[in-house]
Parts: sequence; C-alpha cells; structure tokens
Amino acid sequence: MSDIRVRFAPSPTGNLHIGGVRTALFNYLYARQQGGKFLLRIEDTDRQRSTPEFEQEILGSLKWLGLDWDEELVHQSARLERYREVAQELVSKGLAYEFEGAIKFKIPKTEVKVYDIIRGEVTYDSKEFDDLVIMKSDGYPVFHLAVVVDDHDMGITHIVRGEDHLPNTPRHILLYQALGWKSPKYAHLPLIFGADGTPLSKRHGAVAVSEYRNKGFLPQGLINYLALLGWNPGTPQEIFSLPELVKQFSLKRVIKSNAQFNPEKLFWVNGQHMRAMPGEDYEREITAFWKDKLPAMPEEKWRKIIALYRPRIQIYGELKEQTDYFFTEPEYADAAMTGEIRQNAVSMGLLRQLLETLGSLGDFEDVQVLDQKTKQVVETAGLKSKDLIHPLRYILTGRSATPGIFELMSLLGKETCLKRLAAFLS
Ligand code: GLU
Repeated sequence: MSDIRVRFAPSPTGNLHIGGVRTALFNYLYARQQGGKFLLRIEDTDRQRSTPEFEQEILGSLKWLGLDWDEELVHQSARLERYREVAQELVSKGLAYEFEGAIKFKIPKTEVKVYDIIRGEVTYDSKEFDDLVIMKSDGYPVFHLAVVVDDHDMGITHIVRGEDHLPNTPRHILLYQALGWKSPKYAHLPLIFGADGTPLSKRHGAVAVSEYRNKGFLPQGLINYLALLGWNPGTPQEIFSLPELVKQFSLKRVIKSNAQFNPEKLFWVNGQHMRAMPGEDYEREITAFWKDKLPAMPEEKWRKIIALYRPRIQIYGELKEQTDYFFTEPEYADAAMTGEIRQNAVSMGLLRQLLETLGSLGDFEDVQVLDQKTKQVVETAGLKSKDLIHPLRYILTGRSATPGIFELMSLLGKETCLKRLAAFLS
C-alpha cells in the first residue's frame, strides 16, 4: 500500500471517448502499480450540458473495461456549498474579489513552475494571466476552482490528465498557494491525433468506447491498444494483459510527443487477444454478441463456423460480413471472375461432372469423402485441383478466399451446395 491517490474526472457532457478512457487507464495503471487508490469524480457543474445518461454511459464503459475505481463516486454537483465556502474564504483574505456578481481570483504576478513528471519543468509568467473567474454569478463554481478544491479534499497526490490542461495548471498552482494547500504532482499525457495530424475526433471514425463495444471489440484488446497510445515498455512486447500492464507501466516512459491513433493496429491487437483467450470464453462471448442478430442455426453448425473463423476475424462484429454466404445466396459481385468461369468450357465441364458426382452422395457429413470425390473428378480429367476448387469456392460462397472448401461444403450441406452449383451452371 502507498499513499498515492489519483483520480479520473470526466464531465458527463458526452460519451466516454478514446482520449478520456486513455486518461482513465493511465491513472488506473499508476494507482494499481503503486498500490495506491484510483478515484472517480463526475464533474457535473455544467448544468446545461451534463446529463445522467452520459454519466451512466461513462460508468458503464469503465466497468466494461474492468477499470474499477476505489471509494465512493464523487459528484461535484453535491459539493456546491463547499466551493462557495472556499471562494468566500479567498474573498475574506483579500485574494479574490466580487465582480459583477461573480468572484474573481486575483492572480499574483510571479513566475510559476510546473514540475511535470512527463514533460519536466515548465515555467509560466503569471503576468500574462488575467484574473480568474472562480464563481459565476449564478453561484456555480468554474472548473478551475472545483478541480482544485476537490483534488485537495480528496487527498489527490498525482494529477494525470491530458496535455490540453497544461495551461490550466499554473493557475491551479496559484490557487493552491493562495489557499495554503500543498499542490499535487502533475503528469500531462500527450494528445491523441489521427493519421492526418489533426486531433482525434468523430471525423476519424468511432471515438466512443461504447461504439467499439458494439462493434465487437474485446475490453482487453481496447485496453491493450490504449496503453500503447503514448506509452511503450521499451521492449518489443506489444501484447499485454491488464495485470501485465499494471506491472510494467511507468509514467516516466510516457512520450512527450503526440500519440497517433491507428485503427489498423487496434484491430490487430484485438485479434491477438481474441485468439489468445480460452476457447470456451471465445465461444460464449461471440455467441452472446450475435444472439438475435443472425438467423438461428443448429448449435453444432454454429460452433463449427465460429471455430473456423476464429483465426480470420479480428473483432466479433466481422463474423457476419465474412460468413454472409451461410445466411444469404452469393451475389457474384466480381464480374470478371464470374465471366472467366462461365467462359471456361473446361471448368464448366468439370463443374457439371462434380454436380453429378456429389449428387450421388447420401449427405455431405464427411469432409474426407467430399475431398476425395472432388479430386477424383479433376484427376480423371487429367487436371489440377485448383482448376476446379477456385471456381467451386466462388460459386458456393461468392468469394475468392475462404476457409477450407470441403469443411465449408460440409457446413453448407448437400442441398445448398447442389442448388448453388446447379443455379450457376444453368
Ligand atoms: N473534467 C475535466 C475534463 O474532462 C477533467 C479535468 C482534470 O482532470 O483535471 O477534461
């Protein structure tokens, strides 16, 4: 155990997004590694924009990711009296004054040094700062006052937040000094940019954690990828479980330059976790994910399909798109391929023969038999397997790449296979 106490302080004015959750994760990792506490505070003093729905969404996303917090959730809206009291204290000490119904903090003119764990020492000259409104005329505190009072009252020792808050920090330090409080230590995390070099936003695709959840990403995949947004272990290791991250994470290894969000890497990391998880977890989770979203099929068939596709998908949500031919008739969208097969008299001849040979089988249960029978057809004609298998795959699935064709034929079943083959040949 240590005395380290950090917090994540989201405003419930929107969904939990990639930037916010990366901040939450780094706080969490630091606290868990140091044996400290990770606290959660809802900054809901913006009455117009804060909603209980956003708060629930944020809490739900944190829980889904397994970022469990300590102690009781703090709401700023429940602490308004306390902010008023502190503001009055500053007024009575002559360090703040009333101005058009609001209260302004008198910025002392001095040099302010921020010692940042990631960026080192950053010096500000407060002569450049205007006096700071800390209480609005409606009796609500401004962010700067609420944050300082809360962090002090909650015993926060380290503030780990986005670099966008760095310019606020010297003002907060001046408030701590005016109140005679000890300032926490600071670590400002690099901002997250898209591939085009602009700050990550909706334009770059999904930004809310819940969107990733709905697409069928794994919490452990997302966590792993988020950890790499601004941090690396200094070794080639890229795949981490949450406990491994807790062990290896260090604020000192957080980069100073901007982090770049790379969706392809996120998919890849997620795929690694999907393949590493125990088979029964994979089966249970992907089945739950697709429940009621895909037409029902016999359990045995479903289990074979998801096993077949486990090495081929990176998120659960990709399954439907990749296995569409189990649910709908192939569309043969590749006109060049379709034409090539139809115009190839040899292939067409082989396919006709295959249709006949397969038609004489009782069922398609035995993958070996399907394999043998198909090969016989090609060999008898003195040709190579691929002369038949490529067109066959395309006709049965509408695709040029799939898992093993005989396994697929067995899963599709005799009736479907023969129907598709006959329809294409007619
Ligand atoms: N509510 C602030 C935000 O969402 C957090 C500020 C802080 O971490 O100090 O940006």
